[in-house]
Amino acid sequence: MSSPKIIIIGSGLSGLSLSLFLTRLLPTASIKIYEVRPSTHPSTSGTINLTPNALRVLDRLGIYKSISPQGYNFDNLTLLNHQLDFLASIPIAGVSEFEYQSLRIERRIVHSALLGKVMEYDTSRVEIIYDSKCESVQETDKEVTVKFTNGVSTTGDILIACDGIHSTVRKSFVKDPKDFDPKYTGQISLGGNISKSQIQQFNINNNPYPLMMFGPETSTGANFMVWPYNNSGDQFTFFTTLSKPEEEKDGWKEYTDSKETLKSVMQETFCTEGSPWGEMVKKTIELSDVDTYRFWPFYLHSIPEKFFSEKARIIMIGDAAHAMPPSGGQGAAMAFEDAETLAYSLATIFNTLEVGFDINTPHSQDILSKWSNHRIGRMTTIQEMNKRMSDMRKGSSGSTSGVMFTVKVWAIWLLGLLGVLGRTRRAINNYDARKEAAVWLGEGAIAALE
Ligand SMILES: Cc1cc2nc3c(=O)[nH]c(=O)nc-3n(C[C@H](O)[C@H](O)[C@H](O)COP(=O)(O)OP(=O)(O)OC[C@H]3O[C@@H](n4cnc5c(N)ncnc54)[C@H](O)[C@@H]3O)c2cc1C
Repeated sequence: MSSPKIIIIGSGLSGLSLSLFLTRLLPTASIKIYEVRPSTHPSTSGTINLTPNALRVLDRLGIYKSISPQGYNFDNLTLLNHQLDFLASIPIAGVSEFEYQSLRIERRIVHSALLGKVMEYDTSRVEIIYDSKCESVQETDKEVTVKFTNGVSTTGDILIACDGIHSTVRKSFVKDPKDFDPKYTGQISLGGNISKSQIQQFNINNNPYPLMMFGPETSTGANFMVWPYNNSGDQFTFFTTLSKPEEEKDGWKEYTDSKETLKSVMQETFCTEGSPWGEMVKKTIELSDVDTYRFWPFYLHSIPEKFFSEKARIIMIGDAAHAMPPSGGQGAAMAFEDAETLAYSLATIFNTLEVGFDINTPHSQDILSKWSNHRIGRMTTIQEMNKRMSDMRKGSSGSTSGVMFTVKVWAIWLLGLLGVLGRTRRAINNYDARKEAAVWLGEGAIAALE
């Protein structure tokens, strides 16, 4: 067995989860993670929803049981119209069918649980070096070299890009970087936090949370979500997906700088005189604390033909490889699936290499191709689902008129009736990275790693 020097760029959800799998499966490896953020602010804020496919990976990493009591566990999503009339209850997850409920949780809790696990290892095995911004990456027949903006450079056997949607590594890796630049999709997510006690009285009919409301287009908004994110279910995040023209991209500075602007956009969208939206939405916005507001413009970039370089020394996972708008809530889940499947593949490669041998062999390339093709196939399925979810939230696709809005409501109902939502849910939730990797590596190879 060889002792690979592995470099990871980015200590987000994909970088940390990958490092944990590799540390476990490749005990002789030395892993260095380089992160642009300072150690005092290692994560971004906000909440994310984790479906069973994501939680299965986190369970294998030994963090599911510690994070699950810190978030909101649920099975169904309640769909309502803008006046809170019931449309459907959509099953999202559930222990009996998928082993896990769905979990809405603060992102920093998941990040910090992963970080805590990494810190349990000696730094000779895995170490995070903060304040290190990757500037460029170059591979040769023998090694990969990374340069940082602070003048430092280092070399390794392989480098994994986990540096997110605006990945620097992706730019040094693909043939025509401009083709893979993130493009604004024309939608933003905007919202804040509120407590249940402030708005429960407006939840007429006492509909079970989380609530996803669809309405006729008012200004540019046609959807509104109210979602508990703590264990007792008394703290909510609320958000909407709004269509905003591309020209406003330069105007994001105003959105970034002023929380008041964010709240007033919500008010203009949902709370003007004559707005058809019900009290639940209007009061949620009115009573919310402006300091809790956040927004995210959605970007998408083309997926490269393969997720590794010519000499197999640079590999991409997570948002660096295939970022998608968060409408389907699967970006982090894809990062976790990438990490686990890649770790089995790399561990199999390195475990079968004799000391001194190199990853740049036909055998290694073959394994990485199988991994990459498999992940690109998975991404295509998920992105199609994601697009359907984005379209459902749009107001502009005809829902300005009452007729088109009715059509949309019927379409949601019909999708449920035809079992399309069920099929999509099973395709998402049942994914088991270990079983999938066994298809191209063989069950024996994976069992030998454990
Ligand atoms: C509003 C919103 C809601 C979302 N909701 C969900 C959800 O409900 N469910 C879900 O599964 N997913 C969701 N996602 C998607 C999910 O957050 C991402 O897919 C996931 O965080 C990707 O993880 P990553 O580690 O690949 O990238 P990131 O989380 O972006 O991490 C990249 C890391 O690399 C570092 N970095 C960047 N550039 C450099 C550099 N040059 N040098 C060194 N370090 C660098 C960054 O500081 C960061 O720490 C959501 C995303 C958004 C924006």
